[in-house]
Amino acid sequence: MKLWNHYHTPQTVDEALRLLNDYAGRGRVVAGGTDLLVDARAEITFEPHEALIDITHIPDLLHIRQENDTIFIGAGVTHTNIVKSQSIADGATCLVESCGVVGGPQVRNVATLGGNVAHALPAGDGTTSLVALDAEVEVIHDGQRKWLPVCDVFLGPGRSLLQIGRDLLLGFRFKQASKGESTAFKRIMRPQGVALPIMGCAVWVKLDPISAHFEAVRISIAPVGPKPARATEVENELVGKPANSDTIESVAAFAQTVLHPRTSKYRATEDYRSEMISVLLRRTLTLATERARTGTAVPEGVGV
Ligand SMILES: Cc1cc2nc3c(=O)[nH]c(=O)nc-3n(C[C@H](O)[C@H](O)[C@H](O)COP(=O)(O)OP(=O)(O)OC[C@H]3O[C@@H](n4cnc5c(N)ncnc54)[C@H](O)[C@@H]3O)c2cc1C
Repeated sequence: MKLWNHYHTPQTVDEALRLLNDYAGRGRVVAGGTDLLVDARAEITFEPHEALIDITHIPDLLHIRQENDTIFIGAGVTHTNIVKSQSIADGATCLVESCGVVGGPQVRNVATLGGNVAHALPAGDGTTSLVALDAEVEVIHDGQRKWLPVCDVFLGPGRSLLQIGRDLLLGFRFKQASKGESTAFKRIMRPQGVALPIMGCAVWVKLDPISAHFEAVRISIAPVGPKPARATEVENELVGKPANSDTIESVAAFAQTVLHPRTSKYRATEDYRSEMISVLLRRTLTLATERARTGTAVPEGVGV
């Protein structure tokens, strides 16, 4: 069976939209193809399409840029190019750490941050960090161009607000970490065999001016539910508390009592995942707190 008949490489967003319109829902956006083509081969959530519309030749979607304290990343930027970006390493370290562990180098060289979000799995590694960064997503949805909170794009596992064959994800924006703020991401996965992450965690912390207390915190742990979400109960436990190992230890234990991941046949049991929540929180909070205190952040665990 042929999976598509035509392959287009538009050079502008308008051209991509025109093509989507011409195919009237029978076209499909493709970026790196690392989710789409795997699904196509396995015939998961993929019906044959009249055309694939490749957005990776649109220069406007391939930029990483900074305006004042905001970082913008185009939907077609690859994980490799995020890992190579010094401004993201400095201002959103967790994102470099999460994109740096996606697949292997061949996957990261073509797979995009836009594809990671548009695929709408609850535990995409890039997505987990975007949630902790409180990122916004620029979309063209129902013919309207707008910015939305990243979590609003997700409707359920593999289900996104973006209408297949009609809508486009254009890019992301978030504030870079300023003085007293920092981020970290860590993931636990099987060391061998199929690349199946068991649990990922990204945190953003803001310390008070003398680095003594947590002034604000954002925590994203996935997968816990069907959609990515902030762990707000856990965040609230940290705000105003001393920024030290005793607080982190007790909040990591608290997190296990309020977050309830489920058993996944191929990944891990609920009990194991629950244990890993406190392990990951302890590690990421400790790292982000240290980074916020010292004002230096060197991404860890990033593949080459
Ligand atoms: C071997 C392997 C290992 C992997 N390991 C990991 C991992 O460790 N962690 C992880 O998170 N993921 C992993 N993935 C999944 C995948 O690589 C990522 O999710 C990647 O970011 C998807 O990006 P892509 O550009 O390849 O998306 P594509 O496959 O091109 O697209 C994915 C979906 O998004 C839609 N889409 C893409 N771009 C847009 C856009 N701009 N607007 C609208 N819709 C769009 C497509 O129509 C499709 O439905 C792995 C995949 C493989 C094959």
